Amino acid sequence: MTTVVDVAMLPAGVEVREIDLSPVGDFFDDRDWDDPSQVAQGIEAAVGDRQRVWGYLPHLSASMVGTRRRQPGSAQPATIRLGATLLAAPGAELRAPFAGEVLQPEPLVVRHQTQESGTVWTCWWGLETRASQGSSIAPGDVLGVVAASDDAALGASVRVVTLRDAELTRSLPPAVAADDIESWSAHVMDPASLLGLPTTSVRDQRLDGPSVIRLRDQRLARSQRAYYRRPPHFVRGRGVWLYDEHGRGYLDSLNNVTHVGHADPRITEAASRQLKKLNTNSRFIYEGIAAYAERLVSSLPDPLEVVFLVCTGSEANDLALRIARQVTGRSDVIVIDGAYHGNTAAVMGVSPNRYKGPGGRGSPPTTHEAMQPDVYRGPYGRNDEQAGPRYAAHVAAHAQRLASEGRPPAAFIAESLMGTAGNVVFPAGYLATAFDAVRAAGGVCISDEVQVGVGRLGSHFWGFQAQGVVPDIVTMGKPLGNGHPIAAVVTTREIADAFDDGVKYFNTFGGNPVSCAIGSTVMDIVEQDGLQARAGSVGDYFLRSLQELMGRHDIVGNVRGHGLYLGVELVRNRETKEPAAAEAMAVSEAMKDHGVVSYPTGVHDNVLKIKPPMVFGNGHVDIYTEVLDHVLAAEASGGCAC
Ligand code: PMP
Repeated sequence: MTTVVDVAMLPAGVEVREIDLSPVGDFFDDRDWDDPSQVAQGIEAAVGDRQRVWGYLPHLSASMVGTRRRQPGSAQPATIRLGATLLAAPGAELRAPFAGEVLQPEPLVVRHQTQESGTVWTCWWGLETRASQGSSIAPGDVLGVVAASDDAALGASVRVVTLRDAELTRSLPPAVAADDIESWSAHVMDPASLLGLPTTSVRDQRLDGPSVIRLRDQRLARSQRAYYRRPPHFVRGRGVWLYDEHGRGYLDSLNNVTHVGHADPRITEAASRQLKKLNTNSRFIYEGIAAYAERLVSSLPDPLEVVFLVCTGSEANDLALRIARQVTGRSDVIVIDGAYHGNTAAVMGVSPNRYKGPGGRGSPPTTHEAMQPDVYRGPYGRNDEQAGPRYAAHVAAHAQRLASEGRPPAAFIAESLMGTAGNVVFPAGYLATAFDAVRAAGGVCISDEVQVGVGRLGSHFWGFQAQGVVPDIVTMGKPLGNGHPIAAVVTTREIADAFDDGVKYFNTFGGNPVSCAIGSTVMDIVEQDGLQARAGSVGDYFLRSLQELMGRHDIVGNVRGHGLYLGVELVRNRETKEPAAAEAMAVSEAMKDHGVVSYPTGVHDNVLKIKPPMVFGNGHVDIYTEVLDHVLAAEASGGCAC
């Protein structure tokens, strides 16, 4: 909001104040833009009495009011208001700040001569005019009276557009798509200076998308890549939707971190309540950490009962490896090919996805890769009932070889459904057989639940439960804090006690009171809102819809997953399964341009990962599949779907 400005054309004593209805401003932090009465209340709260102060929406400002998502194949939503809008008092008189000639009374169109731009036309909506066609107007003449309005959100309003072209007065839309701003700017000018309205706006103080990209490129290390070649500038989220700086909505199929949905007010509330009271570290005694640890443990099977609270999934896996190595007195670790477990030096060393990926420098001698249990690409397929044990035999072979070499494994680390590796769903019996073999060699089994835990798979709260196993150590992260950095390691009393050799474990931020308040609230919401069951039913519908799509598009080689953790693998040829990586990127880019956030992952970067906030519903599934269908059809015909 800007300061109040006195404007000569308004009734004496009336001033204007900018109202920022864009997604960037604070207006909608606690208000629903789809509820006109909340918008109206917000405006009233900002301006007070319209007899004294009028709200003002600047020319080309983005507005969340009336924002709609882009329809596949159709124009982008018109979210940018053309012209300046005064949120005015009905019945008030507006006076001409200039001389001109009336071309038309309804809507009022006036022609003026200006020094800077020559002849221009102003077009006025929301005024009851008394001027007649052809009449002359002198500065200070009454242009008209603010008309009453039935717009429940904005109330009475006067919109003024300045044009360089009289013809346009007949076909001027109230708002335009962000991508069309440049072409409209050739015809439509900002009326602010002509009318004596404020010529600066709150948006002038902000970095727009292109500036953010420039500064980010300058100041962030290049290895921190952004999504997309043409990245949107998201400034707000709600539920399963993300909004860019122009107020365009995008369906989010990607953010499994915001587990219970973007900007859930219950999370904000919990964080803010605790922030107002106390935030400190876990060497102090406070209720939140005890309650949260108990909460996590109660979600896990016996004998997983001792908790370490940390901040990131990488840190959790790093600590899990450290524990495993220390309690076994060994160093070697068995991993699954293609796996990603995080970014610290130690976990990079057990992440083939990175050390074998672009720029990778190979594995440390203590890491041993077992074949990925991928029934789509691997040697043992979907119809092989023994596929699970057959793949697990590769883990067992490593364990036995290492034992025979006198260096038995410290640990086997695995997800329960591989994420970054490309949404690889394990065949039945895989983890059970692998765990048996590793334990027989005296190793510790670590389940990395960073991606798939907390009910996402629908059938089970933790992914390893779907494989019918109980690990010795579980690591968790992403969804725990709905975006706040919370991660955890949970293990058995026996292992935790064996780890306590006198060296203190201290984590400055892990398990702080604010994190624990948020973590407990996330668990409450998952339970109260039945999100696990929802993930199951919506996920089933999603999978069926994707299978149908597969029938129409040869490029879809495989669809798979559980609950709301799904993957769509794109191939150039269903026989050879040649990965369609460039196509997957192009499809994601085009889907984004059609208002759906999606992205490729996998060892071959050809799997569209689907892991949305758990408040995703069947209607959202329909939007996703409709857009993917449209984009794949355009891709198949060699065209651009954008
Ligand atoms: N484990 C898995 C399975 C992951 O996918 C990730 C992150 N993508 C991590 C660990 C690392 O988590 P963080 O980025 O929170 O360190």
